Order: sequence, then structure tokens, then C-alpha cells
Amino acid sequence: MEFRFTPEQERFRQEVRQFCRENVDPDIRKRLESRHEEHDPTLYKKIAERGWIGMQWPVEYGGQGRSHVDMAIFYEEFGYARAPTGRYTGSVVFVGESIIAYGTPEQKAYFLPRIARGEITCCWGLTEPDAGSDAAALRTRAVDKGDYYEVTGQKIFTSGAHLADVGLFAVRTDPTRPKYHGISLLLIDMDSPGITLQPLITLGGWRVNVTILDHVRVPKNRLMGEENEGWKHVLTTLGLERAGLAPVGLLLRTLDDLAEYMRQQEAAGRRVPQAHWDRFAELATQVQAARWLSYRVAWMQDSGLPDFAESSMAKVLTAELQVRVANLVVDVLGLDGLVRGEAAPLDGLGEQLYRSCLFHHIGGGTMEIQLNAIALQGLGLPREPRPART
Ligand SMILES: Cc1cc2nc3c(=O)[nH]c(=O)nc-3n(C[C@H](O)[C@H](O)[C@H](O)COP(=O)(O)OP(=O)(O)OC[C@H]3O[C@@H](n4cnc5c(N)ncnc54)[C@H](O)[C@@H]3O)c2cc1C
Repeated sequence: MEFRFTPEQERFRQEVRQFCRENVDPDIRKRLESRHEEHDPTLYKKIAERGWIGMQWPVEYGGQGRSHVDMAIFYEEFGYARAPTGRYTGSVVFVGESIIAYGTPEQKAYFLPRIARGEITCCWGLTEPDAGSDAAALRTRAVDKGDYYEVTGQKIFTSGAHLADVGLFAVRTDPTRPKYHGISLLLIDMDSPGITLQPLITLGGWRVNVTILDHVRVPKNRLMGEENEGWKHVLTTLGLERAGLAPVGLLLRTLDDLAEYMRQQEAAGRRVPQAHWDRFAELATQVQAARWLSYRVAWMQDSGLPDFAESSMAKVLTAELQVRVANLVVDVLGLDGLVRGEAAPLDGLGEQLYRSCLFHHIGGGTMEIQLNAIALQGLGLPREPRPART
């Protein structure tokens, strides 16, 4: 077992760190939040110019033939720099990786280089108002009209739909089949006639969308994977989504900034209670564990190993830690930790983190759903027997 990064990976880390130092304006997040955004087109273009969008894809598809571990390094460094990756996760991890996994050769050749060049960004449309955790209950209907599908229905919480050029949508192509069958995946151009978006502003401050599809025409060649048997592909995309939602870099940075703040308090003669240092040490230990679990998931992806349980574990652990770290920041800062604006200590980090951290409990599947997945698929535990009907 070689439990360390290769010299090449260490060099890549330094390259990304340098890029962030040179290109990330420290106020970028505040600027974006004032517009309810997380995506900065200028920064995204620069990331594309470096070839880091889809870096793990083969060169023929616009990638650099790098690894998922490299992408995890990129994420960690961007998180640490508080640099927004914007539509990166939606475009590369959810949709691009899904195209790699079950797209046709034509879809790969068309979409992947364009995603890699940053020319198009993507969104993922699974959740519906009555189909969240129970996503297979989705009702958005795609009717076969010969050489195209006609799609009608409603999606909700579609992140980045208002910025995306193309969306990967789960639709019901055969309502007569049992629930987990009759579902298919379509790549839909977001400027297609019949698509309307309504903004929803999250507690974290960024925009997601209600996506209404009204008799939208989708050419047959936009079917991804097997018609009517798309549920297994949805599970693949959900696994990819979970693996991409472990914000370890931001946690490491928050702990470093908090430690510095606590040291400054002590130096100024204001004692930080021992209990805060103890909680800090405990959280620092757990963040390191989350970091290595996230890298293990990336390594498993590179090795072609099934990572469904591990990606859920990494997501559960980092989501819990986000909340616990946010709580500690606010406890250390006191009520000042809930202040926003110029005068806020730690540059408003406490308040912002507090508002944004809960997203990680929900996005990509709630904590309860992840725990169910770990128990059933990861540990092979039996489902709780249903009580007998009387
Ligand atoms: C900010 C944000 C961005 C999002 N982005 C996207 C996106 O880009 N694309 C997309 O398709 N979706 C997206 N989602 C949707 C997200 O995946 C769903 O919100 C999530 O899966 C939960 O669905 P729900 O909100 O309908 O909650 P529900 O399914 O109604 O769940 C409500 C509660 O019941 C619990 N629960 C439900 N079923 C079970 C069960 N079987 N066992 C135990 N507990 C259960 C849940 O854990 C939760 O606590 C986003 C959500 C948010 C908040």
C-alpha cells in the first residue's frame, strides 16, 4: 500500500494553489452572493483554459487523461481558497461523468469536448415536487412522437438550470410499467421552446430553479442509456453526485482561520475556553478522516471499484462536519458570528457557513437516504421487516 500522493500529484496541487492565489479575488463569494450566484464565468473560463474541466477524461474527449484523485486535489485546493467552482460539479461530475458512463459514442464526441472547453455548462433534473427522496416516483412524461420525444412536467431544485446550456433530465417514457422501469434519461437543450424557469433562492444565498417543461421537443438521439431502463443510470449519476459533494477543502480552511482567530484572542488576553479548543481538536481529527475518505472514493473511481457506500459515507461525514464546524465558529465568535457585512469578524465566515452548510444535508440525497444506502448496499443489512397487516 502506497498511502501518499505521487510527486506528479504534489506538483499539480502546487499548480492549482498558485492558480487560486493569482486568479481568485478574495471578495468573489460576496460579490456572487449579492447576485444570488455561485458561478463566475470569468474564473470558469480560466479553469477551462488550464484544461481542468473534465481533466480525468481521455484526451480525445478534451480531457487531460488525469485521475479522479487529481480532480479531488483540484476540489480541495479550490475549497481551501474559497474559490467558487460554479457549474463545474453539475457539468463535469453529474452530467459529463454520466455521459462517460452511459452516453453513446456520438454523445461523448459532441458534448464532452464542449464541456471541457467551458463552452457549455449542464444541470441535472431529477427531483420533482412529489418525487424527492423517492425519486423513482417522478411523473415528468416523455411521449414518443416518432423521431422525437415530447416532454411535459415539472422539476424542482434544478441547480444552475438558468445558466445551463443542456440538462440531463429523468423522464417517464412508459407509465404502464412498474415504478422503477419506464424511466429514461434525456439530454435537453435548455433553450428549447417550452422550458420555463422560476427562481428559488436558498438559505445559503444562491439560486436554484423550478423547471417547467411544456411539450418540449427532444430529438431521439438525445436519449442517454437504455430507454425505459434509465433507473440504473440514475443510480450511477446519484453515486457520482455524492462523490462530488464532499467539501473538505473549505472545512480545512475554516479550521485554519478559526485556529488563527483563537490564537489572536489568546494573544490579546481574551481566554478562549478550554472546551472550545477540545471541540476544535476533535473536529480537526474528524476533518482529516473525512479528507482521506474522500480521497479513497476518488481512488476507488480511478480503480473501477464500486464506491456507492463509500461515497455516501464521505457525504454523510462531511455534511455532519460542516454543521458542527459552523456551530463551533459561531460559538467561538459568540453573537458576532451571526453578523454579516464589513464589520463581521472572520470576514463574515461564521454567518455564511451557518446558512450554507445545511444544503449538504439535503443535496444529492438527504442524510437519512444516505444512511439507508450505507446500511443496505454497503453493509448488506436487511430492510426492517414491515409489521404484519392485521
Ligand atoms: C439547494 C439544493 C439544490 C438541489 N439541487 C438539485 C439538482 O440540481 N437537481 C435535482 O434533481 N435535485 C436537486 N436537489 C433536490 C434534492 O436532491 C432533494 O431535495 C432531496 O433528494 C430530498 O428531496 P425532498 O426535498 O423532496 O425531501 P423529501 O424526500 O420530501 O424528504 C423529507 C424528509 O423525509 C426524509 N425521508 C424521506 N424518505 C425517507 C426514507 N425512506 N427513510 C428515512 N427518511 C426519509 C428525508 O430524509 C427528509 O428529511 C437540490 C436540493 C437543494 C436543497
